[in-house]
Amino acid sequence: MTVLRASAVRPSPPARRIAFVAIGVAVAIALAVGLCGVLFLRAGALAAPYTPRVEDGYLTAPATLDDTDLPAIANLDAALLGALRDAAAAASSDGVSFEVTSGWRTARYQQWLLEDAVEDYGSVEVARQFVAAPDRSHHVTGHAVDIGPLDAQSWLIAHGAAWGLCQIYANERWHFELATDPGGTCPALRENAAG
Ligand SMILES: [Zn+2]
Repeated sequence: MTVLRASAVRPSPPARRIAFVAIGVAVAIALAVGLCGVLFLRAGALAAPYTPRVEDGYLTAPATLDDTDLPAIANLDAALLGALRDAAAAASSDGVSFEVTSGWRTARYQQWLLEDAVEDYGSVEVARQFVAAPDRSHHVTGHAVDIGPLDAQSWLIAHGAAWGLCQIYANERWHFELATDPGGTCPALRENAAG
């Protein structure tokens, strides 16, 4: 009786082997599924690199100062936007119209621009002369705007101080910020965005 009960309770050696094999197979499947999941996620990340969207302030074409449905315009500092509109009204009587080629941007978009510039110029040091880091760019706070075309830039450089609008960097004739009181004198140009 004792022997029979023991053999009834304890699995026979082949049954235990099968159980071990089954557990081993289950663990292997779980590891494989986990590994596939990791690879899938990494492939997904590689397949979809960051590209700036309209919500980031990206403009698919030059905008006007009235395109407030675009985050690049809507998120500009209200005082800057007001000064630009007043200046644009005066410029239009001189036959000059402003286009906004870039306005507010997210920090991620700014970082993307910097990374792009690093690729173009070959070093972070040189890239920062043309594209400010996200923590330094006034585009990210909505306090800077890039204006085109060339005649609008020339007009703003000559007359913008009447509304406090100033060119800031010697190497960026398109980039304007409120940098003086209306009718004041713009500060001396900085050499570039890294200065
Ligand atoms: Zn700019």
